[in-house]
Amino acid sequence: MARLPKSIQNLIDELSKLPGIGPKSAARICFYLLSSDERQAKFLGEAASGLKENLTRCSVCYNYGETDPCEICSDTQRDGNLVCVVEEPLDVIALEKAGFGGYYHVLGGAISPINGIGPDDLRVSELIDRIRDDSGKIKEVILATNPTLEGEATAVYISERLQNGKLLITRLARGLPVGGDLEYADEVTLSRSLEGRNEI
Ligand code: ZN
Repeated sequence: MARLPKSIQNLIDELSKLPGIGPKSAARICFYLLSSDERQAKFLGEAASGLKENLTRCSVCYNYGETDPCEICSDTQRDGNLVCVVEEPLDVIALEKAGFGGYYHVLGGAISPINGIGPDDLRVSELIDRIRDDSGKIKEVILATNPTLEGEATAVYISERLQNGKLLITRLARGLPVGGDLEYADEVTLSRSLEGRNEI
């Protein structure tokens, strides 16, 4: 069988490493780029290489941003009483669409003993420091980890670490699809679950 030209095979190999893209989709994207306008491939390459160059981790919420503090953390119009704790940056996008108007804290995952991820691998102590250094401005911490076993375990762990009698600690209301990721929840469901949050 004839081999594919090396530059085609290289791109297919690289694309296949991406989440949700198998070898067939990778080949389809590759040949699509080959047959389309020359600029398309160039823009894609530039967008991909600029991703890491132009982005930084926000030192307040640990989301990605083009500035540090990020755009959300620099926005003084938001509700400073509320901090919503999420697993991943994509969850921030979901909650923004659902109309959340407070600030965020991105943990970087959830506790998962099977995958060897413990509390120390997440940004829990950063959250505790942030609340301590905030001198009482933060009144409520909303635990918006995913409705999965790992997400629940993480919420319970963090709530135990944060209990100090002064802080209100809440969890998103039930109604989100169990086992699913927050990022896939529709805006209406997420917004309802945010409004109906319960103290834990
Ligand atoms: Zn930030």
